Amino acid sequence: MFNALVVEKDEESGKASASVKQIGLDALPEGEVTVAVEYSTVNYKDGLCLSSSGGGLVRKYPHIPGIDFAGTVEASSDDRYKPGDKVVLTGWRVGEAHWGGYSQKANVRADWLVPLPDGLNARQAMAVGTAGFTAMLAVMALQDHGMKPDHGPVLVTGAAGGVGSVATAILANLGYEVAGVTGRPETADYLKSLGATQIVAREEINETTKRPLESETWAGCVDAVGGAMLARVLGQMKYGASVASVGLAGGAGLPATVIPFLLRGVNLLGIDSVMQPYDNRLRAWQRVATDLPMDKLEAMIQPATLSDLPQLGADILQGQVKGRVVVDVN
Ligand code: NDP
Repeated sequence: MFNALVVEKDEESGKASASVKQIGLDALPEGEVTVAVEYSTVNYKDGLCLSSSGGGLVRKYPHIPGIDFAGTVEASSDDRYKPGDKVVLTGWRVGEAHWGGYSQKANVRADWLVPLPDGLNARQAMAVGTAGFTAMLAVMALQDHGMKPDHGPVLVTGAAGGVGSVATAILANLGYEVAGVTGRPETADYLKSLGATQIVAREEINETTKRPLESETWAGCVDAVGGAMLARVLGQMKYGASVASVGLAGGAGLPATVIPFLLRGVNLLGIDSVMQPYDNRLRAWQRVATDLPMDKLEAMIQPATLSDLPQLGADILQGQVKGRVVVDVN
């Protein structure tokens, strides 16, 4: 028997709630690889999966959330993995459609796993987690589209959140000048410690403007917010620059015009971590191990246990989690 955070639905109220329970291996879904989970984390999507409605992501209860985890292979019927191998998992709708990482054991498909890259342990991998992995994908996409440090400042929106914190630290380490947008002025020192040199107040950039183009300011952008902020940012990009659209913490709408695309050659790059092909996953994790300074990562960590998760899920949906939560499931 082992511990897991199980979400159950109350048939009368129709509301779901989570608690730590003891379950057995036979309760787990089928999978080619059994992983002894060491750490998981809290991403925005986990907040949705932990909510009383399941956020439109969880369809079947009882459910074990946790969209990512890192740990050690315990048993495998697939040749690619053997007991003792260190692995990390993000995406593939694990923690949403399939039971996830808020459990001391997980059964998953071998295709979903990535070997832990040299230079990262399981705790560090989950300090990065889906949010940080996606931040890396965003930086890679911007670089693939020609972004260079001497082009000018790069904007990171939702900077004090998970995606934003990791993007800030990676970009600063790669020599980019980073401007962080935050709605929490009290996080300014934290963002500067990660390498941001400019703090932009959320209100400054959240207001809608009637002008489709403003002065050319940003050489790139990692956007975790979407909505009106993304629309505004598009009009502030330098000629030919790109925005990596990662998240929707501020809304799924995009009240924009096409003018920045047509008159300034601005690119809007979509970033998806869930179905990302294996080769690019490997590339991204290896880049995380080399490009993200581990002392900066350490400064982002808020430790937690399985029983802290219901509260943390609510906090992240309110935009109240700073940096990255690392959940020690043992
Ligand atoms: P966090 O909650 O940690 O970060 C989001 C940040 O956005 C907050 O910390 C806050 O930053 C800012 N924010 C929150 N609400 C608003 C608002 N109403 N208006 C403007 N800014 C706001 O979440 P994550 O970093 O884990 O995820 C960020 C987004 O990226 C989410 O939408 C998530 O779903 C998405 N995502 C997408 C992935 C993909 O594959 N495309 C993978 C991972 C995440 P501050 O306080 O600094 O303003």
